Formats: sequence, C-alpha cells, structure tokens
Amino acid sequence: MFGAFYGDVIGSEYENACTKDYDFPLKRESHFTDDSVMTAAVCRAILNNGENIGRFGIRKRAFEYAAQYKQYYSRYPHAGYGSMFSRWAKEKSLRRQFSYANGGAMRAVPIGYAYDDIEQVMLQAKASCYYTHAHREGIRGAQAVACAVFLARHGESKEHIRKFISEKFRYDLDYTAEQIRPEYSFDSSCEYSVPPSIVCFLDSADYESAVRNAVSLGGDADTMACIAGGIAEAYYKNIPEEIRRFCDSRIDISLKETAREFDLRYNNT
Ligand SMILES: [Mg+2]
Repeated sequence: MFGAFYGDVIGSEYENACTKDYDFPLKRESHFTDDSVMTAAVCRAILNNGENIGRFGIRKRAFEYAAQYKQYYSRYPHAGYGSMFSRWAKEKSLRRQFSYANGGAMRAVPIGYAYDDIEQVMLQAKASCYYTHAHREGIRGAQAVACAVFLARHGESKEHIRKFISEKFRYDLDYTAEQIRPEYSFDSSCEYSVPPSIVCFLDSADYESAVRNAVSLGGDADTMACIAGGIAEAYYKNIPEEIRRFCDSRIDISLKETAREFDLRYNNT
C-alpha cells in the first residue's frame, strides 16, 4: 500500500506549484495528504470486513466504507480535501453525493489487492463510491484504478492491462506521458485525470519513473502520483530504498500502521 502513499507524498508539493520537469527535486516540505488518509480509510474498511458482496450487498457495504471516510476525516481534518467532500464528511447524517472528481479513484488501490476476482473488485469499487462519488464518472474512475491494480498484482503484462482497461472502461490510453505533457493541465475530474495516471504507470520502467511521469504532467500531482504509484507497486513489487526513507518520515504513524496491517494480510507475496 505504500506505493500509493509515497506517490501522494512526492506529489504533495507539486499540486499547487505544477512542474513539467521529469527530474524535479523531492521537496523537503513534502507531506501526506487526503489521498493517503482516504486510502488508509479504505484499508481499514477492508480489514474490518473482507467478505465478498453480491450485487444486492452494495448499499450495506457502502455504509461501511462511508463510516470509515467520516472517521478518518475527523482524525485528519486538514489533509487537503476538496470542499465538497469536507462538507459531506462533517455532516451528522449520511447523504449521497454524486461527485465525478478523482477522490473515489485516489483511494481505490487497496480494493485491487484485497479481492480474488475482477467482478468482486468492480462491486467493491462501486460500493466505495456510493455515498461520495456516485456519478458514473466517479465510479468508472475508481473501478478502473482498482482493476488496474488487480491485474498488475497478478502479473498481467502492461499490454494486457492497457487493452483490458481501455475496452472495459472506454478510456483512451493510447499515448505516452511525454506526448501529453506539454498541453496537460490541472483538472481533478476522473475523466481527465484517471486515464493519464494509468498511462503514467504503463509508460514507466520502474516505480520511480511512474511517479515522476505523474507529477511531471503538471496536473493534480499528488493524486495522479498516488494512483500511478499504487499500480506501479502492484506491478514492480519493489520501491527504491531512498524513496522509502524520504517518504516514511513524512507519513503519520497511525496511517503507516494501518497500511502495514493491510499489507501483511493482502500484500505479502
Ligand atoms: Mg491530495
């Protein structure tokens, strides 16, 4: 799970100060943000209940995910959430929100690790969006990320992953990071930010290059690097020691404990 966290940390200082430089420096002020917090919330929801659901179990399961989002929000209220999510998280009652932003996709990495078949991954991702990102684009983004992680961790080739995701989700993935970098800009909608995040992984040679691709597109850097980094860890199964060292000291200890517990159960290959 740390691949997603580290991407978030490395991208954090470039979300509002975009860079197009692939060789950007890791900034001392880098820190974890909402992407890590919400990824940990999904880990916790799965650790509490790892059971499969059926088509009619989505609503009940959705409640469990939503409860963790609210819980983690209250523990880390200043992690950089979007205003729509903050409003939702602070409300006492549980209301459905139909966001098409990438907040559902940024926290979907654990779902790709925890379940044994792609249909279950699809259902769980849908449940994880039910209360916050119920717009069809919000759901599509979360499902695409979770499926990419699922395929990557099962050793599927990049070409298979590209073909599967573009056919199942009708995403255009037929370009490289370098090709879109000059014209790419900040937009946190799923439709605009999730496909390029997946491309940043497809177009990488290792974990670090996936994250560098994502940050240097000059868009929603922390979220895109969280997604690309999450898929890249599942695929390469290796993160350089310097990156671990740099990022570990910048992540809250309790988030790290949740991720470790999750990895022990679901990512111990
Ligand atoms: Mg963020």
